[in-house]
Amino acid sequence: MDRVNDTKTALVTGANKGIGLAIAQGLGAIGYTVAVGARDDGRREAAVEHLRAAGVDAFGVALDVTSDDSVAAAAAAVERTAGRLDALVNNAGIPGRADGGAQDPTTLDLDVLRTVLDTNVFGVIRVTNAMLPLLSRANSPRIVNMSSSMGSLTLRTGPVMAAYAPSKTLLNGITTQYARRFADTHVIVNACCPGYVATDFTGFQAPRTPEQGAAIAIRLATLPDDGPRGGFFDDEGAVAW
Ligand code: NAP
Repeated sequence: MDRVNDTKTALVTGANKGIGLAIAQGLGAIGYTVAVGARDDGRREAAVEHLRAAGVDAFGVALDVTSDDSVAAAAAAVERTAGRLDALVNNAGIPGRADGGAQDPTTLDLDVLRTVLDTNVFGVIRVTNAMLPLLSRANSPRIVNMSSSMGSLTLRTGPVMAAYAPSKTLLNGITTQYARRFADTHVIVNACCPGYVATDFTGFQAPRTPEQGAAIAIRLATLPDDGPRGGFFDDEGAVAW
């Protein structure tokens, strides 16, 4: 029981690879017990083994962010194993199909848009609301939403991707709504951009490592009680909305 009471626990969604795995490893390295949220049994177990081999206290949580049932079961599993949640990192995300003009706004495939929103936005809301009872048991709960500068209406970075980029714009908007809702509480919610990171997502054609991409999420997941709320940050500081 001591372990349950004294050790902070973080749930990272999409933690089986890429930036999510690096976030899990980084939080584990500073003493967090890490709940490895991943939808595929084999990939999840491989990630848990990888993390344990690196000295991280990790456990796997079956989690498909697009499924109400899966998310409810994940919350029950975290409750059974850890009893509470100190940090939630909503990292799972998809770019969505872009072939055949599927993400050209003039030929935007609405099924692609729905699919991307279901993971990148509804998934974050679904997971966050299911985990709130567990987060409320922590002294200093932190929620981090993995966004992208592609969602910045000011910067307009990256290629035209009319499902993915607006999904991150909406995620930023949702982040500020949560932050306002929790303004008078100890729950701190922020969004971040990892930079352009070499993962499956980018075909590994990007300059930053997953560890570099993970750094800002780890910082926001471990903010002090007087840390910023409702912001959008990267390694350099605030990102323009
Ligand atoms: P990645 O290597 O493709 O990893 C994405 C992760 O999300 C995988 O673990 C994947 O699981 C998981 N995932 C997707 N759909 C899911 C679902 N329905 N339920 C649970 N997990 C799901 O990509 P990444 O580059 O690490 O991206 C992580 C986050 O960073 C995303 O939100 C992305 O938008 C954001 N981001 C990335 C970059 C970049 O340059 N890479 C830049 C800006 C923002 P499976 O293995 O099962 O598919």
